[in-house]
Formats: sequence, structure tokens, C-alpha cells
Amino acid sequence: MSVFTYSYKLKLTANLLNEVEYAPIKAAMSDMLAHAKEHKRRTGFILLKDQYLEVEAGKKVLALSERLSGVVLDHPLAAPCLKASQYGRICPSCDKPFRTPLAKLCAECGYTLPEGEVAGPLVDVS
Ligand SMILES: [Zn+2]
Repeated sequence: MSVFTYSYKLKLTANLLNEVEYAPIKAAMSDMLAHAKEHKRRTGFILLKDQYLEVEAGKKVLALSERLSGVVLDHPLAAPCLKASQYGRICPSCDKPFRTPLAKLCAECGYTLPEGEVAGPLVDVS
């Protein structure tokens, strides 16, 4: 189940998706990156940032991200920021998630966990 909380990476509050919910976006990302790899093989040039917006799979990533999370991303490569597994649990001081499950301090408020402790996952995504 998704969790509605703040994403410091997107700088807004969003529905962060579990692995099952994120799977369609992941598949579209894979297609987009395969297209980018094929473009490089064919032309010798990498895709420029704006060219991802013109690729069908890139458009699909943006559409799926909006439909599944409610967030209008400005670039398809930002989609992994919608995965709840990228974030740590909620900070006891500021109620925003830690930046990663391995974080030792909160990037928002500076709250520091006790020595040897890490944030742990935001949600159980198993
Ligand atoms: Zn905090």
C-alpha cells in the first residue's frame, strides 16, 4: 500500500509507491532505458535530458507516475523518487521521512539517531 508523505527528493507531499504499485513504472523505465541504449549504439551519442521527454516510453513513465501517485513529474528519470523503499521511516522530530533507510540523521531537521542506529524502512514493502 502506498504511503502519503513528504518526498525531500521531489520537494512535495506525494503518494510513495510500494514495489508492486511501482512495477508498471519500472517496466516503462526499463523500456525507456533500452531505447536510450539503442540510441547510443545506433548514433554514438547518449540521449540528452530533454530527448527523454520525446521517447514514447518516457511519456509513458510520466503518465503512469501521474496516474499511480498523483505527482506530475517534470522528467521521467525522476520516477524512482516515487518508490517508498527509497526512504527511511518517519523522523520522530519533524514527521518527515529520513532520506534513506540507512540514514543516521534527518536531512530536514537534523535529528540524530542514537549511535549505531539507522532509520530503517519507511514502510514494509515485502
Ligand atoms: Zn526530522
